Amino acid sequence: MNRREHSICPVCLKKGNEPDRIPSAVPWKNNSEMEDRTHCDDAWFYECSACGSFAISDIDAGDARTSDRVWAGRDRAQVSALLREQAIRPLPPYWVQFGMEPYGPLKWRDLAPIDVDELLAKWPRTVPKRLDRMLCNFARLSPTGGHRVNFDPEDTSLAFAETGVEAGYNFRCLLAAEWVDDDGSKDLAEIHGTLTPKGWQRFEELTQGKGAPENDVFVAMWYGAKENTEECGKTEKEMSRVFEDGIKLAVEDAGYQAIRVDLVQHNEWIMDQVLGLIRLAPFVVADFTGHRNGVYFEAGFARGLGKPVIQTCETGELEKAHFDTRQLNHVLWKTPKELRERLCQRIIGSPIGRGPHPPASPGS
Ligand SMILES: [Zn+2]
Repeated sequence: MNRREHSICPVCLKKGNEPDRIPSAVPWKNNSEMEDRTHCDDAWFYECSACGSFAISDIDAGDARTSDRVWAGRDRAQVSALLREQAIRPLPPYWVQFGMEPYGPLKWRDLAPIDVDELLAKWPRTVPKRLDRMLCNFARLSPTGGHRVNFDPEDTSLAFAETGVEAGYNFRCLLAAEWVDDDGSKDLAEIHGTLTPKGWQRFEELTQGKGAPENDVFVAMWYGAKENTEECGKTEKEMSRVFEDGIKLAVEDAGYQAIRVDLVQHNEWIMDQVLGLIRLAPFVVADFTGHRNGVYFEAGFARGLGKPVIQTCETGELEKAHFDTRQLNHVLWKTPKELRERLCQRIIGSPIGRGPHPPASPGS
């Protein structure tokens, strides 16, 4: 397919600029399944007025544009709105993939690989949640108070809507909630929304104290034995290396910052601090090596808040894990270096995706 044919956005089918070609989107691992899908071809980087910026392989773009099969049970407008939100936030653009385990990061540009179904899992299921997300789009598009955000009712992605009718309805809901003021224009091409003080307050409620990707990732782990007498023979020094050379670097490679609570200066009661940090964290990494109750508690608390928890464990230690958690998928490791690589891949390949910080050590 040539560049010109590619000027139709494969997600929303709007005509736009010709995309940039990403040469040789070579997968990060080779196996026959990958080769069958011939994903080793080029990918394209779109900057669509509706979907924002995203990457997609040549094959997936062709399928998405012409095949109803890949859209069975999936909605173009939903994918478009979720891509747009990612661009507005602004988080690293997605590399959208259909029905594949997402590949690792492309060297070409800082991209977050995601399977389309994992992306669709982020779709807000209820009307109030869609209105909240629409309000957040308006707020993030406003560099200051008083900014007028242009709203086209056909722009369903900005409004977290599937149709133009729903987009118009959602906008009227923001007006009715007094979250947004319009300037009274009756001209449909000239609708603007300006956040009201009430709208800014709602935005604050929705984003403050919540796990934002900019916040520190909470790491729950054992500190290691004072002396080498424990059943698990890891010392404090060895467990520090697991954090410093393993988990911390993995989290940074994936575009986040990691925090381990004993490294934080704190005067408050430690548990308040722990619970507060977990609440604010975009996700939690829990390493079960040494099987300390605190780690189980912190991971469980995070799960109860609906926060993603990535579990890691030294290979030989897994069989000692508690029955309730043994069945969950762990990232297994033998060395901090191995932990760094595997954990980073797990973060990027999961719905959490790549974070907003530049990687600590690009290319390593
Ligand atoms: Zn589009």
